[in-house]
Amino acid sequence: MGTRDAAALSRRLRELPSVGRLAAALGDGASPEAEEAMTMVVARRVIDERRDELRADPHAPPVDLVAHAQEALARGQRRSLRRVVNATGVILHTNLGRAPLAPSAQAAVAEVAAGYCNLELDLRGGGRGSRHDHVEALLCELTGAEAALTVNNGAAATLLAAATLAGPGRSVVVSRGQLIEIGGSFRIPEVIAASGSELIEVGTTNRTRLEDYAVAIAEAEPRVGALLRVHPSNFATFGFVASVEVAQLCGLGPPVIDDVGSGVLVDGVGELEAEPAVRGSVSAGSALVCFSGDKLLGGPQAGLLVGRADAVARARAHPLARALRIDKLSLAALEATLALYREPARALAEIPVLAMLAADPEVLARRARDLAGALGDRGEVVASSARVGGGALPVAELAGPAVAVDAGSGGADALAAALRGADPPVIGHIHDGRLLLDPRTMTDADAEIAASSLIGLLTP
Ligand SMILES: *Cc1c(COP(=O)(O)O)cnc(C)c1O
Repeated sequence: MGTRDAAALSRRLRELPSVGRLAAALGDGASPEAEEAMTMVVARRVIDERRDELRADPHAPPVDLVAHAQEALARGQRRSLRRVVNATGVILHTNLGRAPLAPSAQAAVAEVAAGYCNLELDLRGGGRGSRHDHVEALLCELTGAEAALTVNNGAAATLLAAATLAGPGRSVVVSRGQLIEIGGSFRIPEVIAASGSELIEVGTTNRTRLEDYAVAIAEAEPRVGALLRVHPSNFATFGFVASVEVAQLCGLGPPVIDDVGSGVLVDGVGELEAEPAVRGSVSAGSALVCFSGDKLLGGPQAGLLVGRADAVARARAHPLARALRIDKLSLAALEATLALYREPARALAEIPVLAMLAADPEVLARRARDLAGALGDRGEVVASSARVGGGALPVAELAGPAVAVDAGSGGADALAAALRGADPPVIGHIHDGRLLLDPRTMTDADAEIAASSLIGLLTP
């Protein structure tokens, strides 16, 4: 560094405010102690960074250190896991946390989170209770099962079912058409391997017949622990295809595990008719039916196992059950969600996933019109389609409106990124180069948030 640069550097370093002065400029001094400490930390970091910058380039252009520090402070105070506005039109968006909870489920979580609860206490006798008791009777009532068990998620339910009914030294028989990957590296062959069981594949990719199972069972007896049927969930096959109904599998002898993926517990929602109903699988005679709590059931992340009393009792006693157990917050949300299903009309109205599936077209049209109207000549209502997502009903398209936003010269990708940076972040989707916002997955309040963020970003 030349002497002139050295002189410039020393002058500019001297001009930097002290940590105390910058911190004072950030707050008005009335903030609580913890915030004051944070302000000092941020002020020190911003000044240190500026010092490094000036050492690298003594002639760096001036910056507004107070604005810089304010921004850093705001960033630091924001939590990493935050609420976002889902404008994607994908109802069960895995990246966005799948199912939002019904108001009664939210309240149940808040109550249990705020203090102690009778998670494993029998309030009548005063002795030890089981966490499973809080939802078992409800699950039996809603599905017709003899017994039920709840674990941490759907993948855990399938793993536990295979480990319980088969496990080391025993086999699980699966159709080659159902050796699927769900996403997030949940692959049926690997789940069976992880359960310690041997996999016996039967049939072909597109067609598997009852005899295929019967032959495999005859060859492998008595090693066969279970027959596993897996709902393809996130893909569909057409044409020259055949698979075996669960009722026929149940007639073959070995216990049947039916991984139905999503728990459909209501009738009368046209969109859900293609999904296997849990009650149907139970009455067909499945030993264990496995499904997720946060897919079409519309509750918290959870894995449910319902079925025959002997099979559920064995699953409960398996060492994995403890490792995979559900936590009290999810259990609270699950009980409240299941309770809504006792009155199907209430379930349809109050469980957000079901309400979004069957959303009133007029409500969607009005919400889209209001949002587009707020954006003036930058917003336009277009025909679009929402999706179920979450590995359910892959081919279902839910026709409805969306708002296309004119992103101007910056382009749709840049506008989508800026919206993700808003507070709260607004997540849209890009279709044919245009940014679309779908009213189906937003509330009216969400749409207002999206509008005001967009107005801020589009105004030059
Ligand atoms: C989604 C799904 C799972 C996994 O459930 P998670 O709750 O995501 O763990 C397992 N099996 C099938 C058939 C599924 O669709």
